[in-house]
Amino acid sequence: MSNLNIKIIKQLKDNYSYILYKKDNANATIIDPAESYNLIDYLNKNNLILQNILITHHHQDHTGGVEGLIKQFPSTKIFAPSKLELNLVNIIKEGSIINTNINNFSVIETPGHTIDHVILYDKDNKILFSGDTLFRLGCGRVFEGTYNQMYNSLKKINLLEDNTTIYCGHEYTLSNLKFLETVFVNHDELTKLRNILELEIKMNGRTIPFNLANEKKINPFLNQNSILAKKLKVEQKFSDIELFTFLRDKKNQF
Ligand SMILES: [Zn+2]
Repeated sequence: MSNLNIKIIKQLKDNYSYILYKKDNANATIIDPAESYNLIDYLNKNNLILQNILITHHHQDHTGGVEGLIKQFPSTKIFAPSKLELNLVNIIKEGSIINTNINNFSVIETPGHTIDHVILYDKDNKILFSGDTLFRLGCGRVFEGTYNQMYNSLKKINLLEDNTTIYCGHEYTLSNLKFLETVFVNHDELTKLRNILELEIKMNGRTIPFNLANEKKINPFLNQNSILAKKLKVEQKFSDIELFTFLRDKKNQF
């Protein structure tokens, strides 16, 4: 299944939308359209017909492009964890399988950022669309759910297979790194990472996608046994959830 193409489209200020398609197959699936015009442009230029729109959560910067896309491709199916204004939606929840015609996604509920938030996992292709639950070096803000819910949602991601490639909803990596540098001052691992990330930005203009194994090693929001998290737990005698709460609170004020 390695010939699955994932086109990363930058949207708005720092959003990412994704177009999935296969060579010699006109079917395309879009994940989290923030706006429609540049997605339609890419579909048309590549002779792709939109079949499915998948939504991770109800926020406008993940759904704003739906109207425009449906106007252009009226037979497109929409899969979302909650109702959207005006459009007919196939509601997805924990354990739902979405067959896009070119791959299968398992739906995993990850409440916290919003109550309805889901992530989309394709075990065969080893890819995860994490929406605003997990970012590189960070996690989403807790708007609707509780810290406890967000902590448990991230735990679900931490249990997925190491060699998973993650596509998240925003380019927040450098700002997340800056935050970690204020908590873990002059930490070798962060210095190493800064060099890697700056190179990635220079080469590709972005730090997405990223590898789950690397993230488990370093991201203290995702894994309370990561290098950074362990250091803080020993120093402050935090439990895992206390550590998560401490970091999330601190990040909110950053
Ligand atoms: Zn959001």
